[in-house]
Amino acid sequence: MRVLHVSSEVAPWSETGGLGQVSSALPDALASAGIDVHVVTPLYPQVRHELWVREQKPTYSGIDAWMILGGVERLGKFLTFERPGKATVHFLECDALFDRDGIYYGGYGPHGDNPQRFGFLSRAALDGSWALMGDPPDIVHAHDWQTSLVPMYSKLKLSDWLADTRSVLTIHNMEHQGVCHKLELPALGFDWSTYHHESIEFWDQLNFLKAGIAFADKITTVSPQYAAEILTPEFGCNLDGFLNNHGHKLSGILNGIDVAAWNPKTDRAIAKTYAAGELAGKAACRAALLAEAGMTAAADDLVLGVVSRLADQKGLDVVADLVPELVDMGVKLIILGSGDPELEDRFRTLGSWYPNNVWIWVGFNADLAHRIYAGADAVVIPSRFEPCGLSQMYAMRYGAIPIAHAVGGLRDTVVDWGNDQLARGNGTGIRYEHASADGLRWAVGRAVDLFRNDPTGWKTAASRVMQLDWSWGESARKYVNLYNALLAGR
Ligand code: ADP
Repeated sequence: MRVLHVSSEVAPWSETGGLGQVSSALPDALASAGIDVHVVTPLYPQVRHELWVREQKPTYSGIDAWMILGGVERLGKFLTFERPGKATVHFLECDALFDRDGIYYGGYGPHGDNPQRFGFLSRAALDGSWALMGDPPDIVHAHDWQTSLVPMYSKLKLSDWLADTRSVLTIHNMEHQGVCHKLELPALGFDWSTYHHESIEFWDQLNFLKAGIAFADKITTVSPQYAAEILTPEFGCNLDGFLNNHGHKLSGILNGIDVAAWNPKTDRAIAKTYAAGELAGKAACRAALLAEAGMTAAADDLVLGVVSRLADQKGLDVVADLVPELVDMGVKLIILGSGDPELEDRFRTLGSWYPNNVWIWVGFNADLAHRIYAGADAVVIPSRFEPCGLSQMYAMRYGAIPIAHAVGGLRDTVVDWGNDQLARGNGTGIRYEHASADGLRWAVGRAVDLFRNDPTGWKTAASRVMQLDWSWGESARKYVNLYNALLAGR
C-alpha cells in the first residue's frame, strides 16, 4: 500500500503544535508497520535551519511541480530525505511562497496569500506523487484546512490518473477553516461550477475545510469524543450541519505520542532519569525545576505545570483569574507557553507579584517542556475545547497527574478517580465538568488536598499513570484498517 501524507508542518523540522507532531509520528508509525509512506511538506526557512542543525541533507529528486496561481507561474522542487524504516519526506521548495519567517503569520497577521501557498502545496504534492512514489498513491491523507484541497484537486482535477486513489482528511482542529475571498477560486485553478453549497462555497466565501469534508472519502478527527462533539453547534464552528450530512464518513482515532523521545528513563533533557515505582529521580527533577523558576517550596506544595499555546481555546485565562486563590493554596504554578500577548503579559505581571508562586517562560522550548513534565506534580489543562491534546499524555508518561476539563480527547484519556481511591482506582487523573473558575477551583482544590493528605497514594497513582500505553501502535493500526476499508471498496 502506498500512502501519501500532505501537511503544512512536520516535526522536528517545522512545528507549531500537535499538527506537526502528528504529521511526523503517524507516517513513521505507518512505515514501521510496513507501509510505503511518503510525506510532502514545505521547505520553510526554519526547516532549512533544522536540517542544518541536524546535519541532514535532503537531495533534489529532479522532480518539479508547476502551476499558474492567480496568473503567476509557480515552480516547486522536491528535495527528498530518505530515512531507513521511516516515512520518506519530500520538502517542497518554492521560495516565493514558503521563504517566510512565520509559517502562517507575519508581523501583521496571517500571510495574505495563505490560500495560494497551501493550495499550491496540496496541488503540487498530488502532481509530484506518481514520480516521487513510483506509482500513483493508493491513499492521499490530508491534514487540517491547509491541505484540505487535496481531495478536491484529486477528484476534480486529477481524476484520470488518480481514479483508484482514495482520500482521507484528518481534522486536528475545527476552529481553523481557511476561509477566504471567493475570487481565490479561479486563482486556485477551479472554475465557478465548483462554487456551490455542497462544495467549497461558505456564506459567499471559500472554506478550505468544508471542501475537504465534501470531497474526502473518509474524515477522521483526533479523538472519538471530539468526533461526536463537532457534530454539535457548540463545537462544530458553523460546519456542524454540513459535517452531519457527511457524518457517515467521520470517525475518531486518538493520537499517540512518541514514547522513545518522551521517556523519563532515558531523557537527557531532565535533571535525573526515573521510572515508575522509582520516583527518586522525579523528586530531583522537581527540585531542579523549582530552582530554575527561582522558587522555594515545601514538600507538600503542589507544583503545577502548564505547557501550552496561550490561545483562547486553552482556557488559561481562567487559571490567571484564579492565581490569588492558587497562591493561598500554596500552589507553585510553572508555565511554558506563548501566543496571546495580553495573556503572556498577565502571567508576567502575576509572576512579578507572586515570584515564589508564579513563573512563566514565554516562547517555544522543547527541552523546558520535558523539564516541566518531569518536575511537576500535576499539569493543568483547562481547555474550552480540545480535539485530542497531547499534553496530558506527556504528563502521565512523566508521572505528572493531569487536571483536565472533561472535553474532547481529554475526556477520552483522563479518567477521574474518586477522592477515596487515589491509589487503588482505575482513574488517570482529575477531571472536571465546567470550564469555569468554579470548576477549576474545585479540581485544583481536590488535587491540593490529595497531594497533601495522601502523598503515598499520590506516588502510587503517579507510577500507575506512567505505565499507561500512549504509543502510536494502536492508533496506527486503526488508520491501516481505515485505509484497507477504503481500498476494499475500489
Ligand atoms: P495544540 O496542538 O492545540 O497546540 P496539543 O496538546 O495537541 O495542543 O499539542 C501541543 C503540544 O505542543 C503539546 O505537546 C505541548 O507539550 C507542546 N507545546 C505547546 N506549547 C509549547 C511551548 N511553548 N514549548 C514547548 N512545547 C510546547
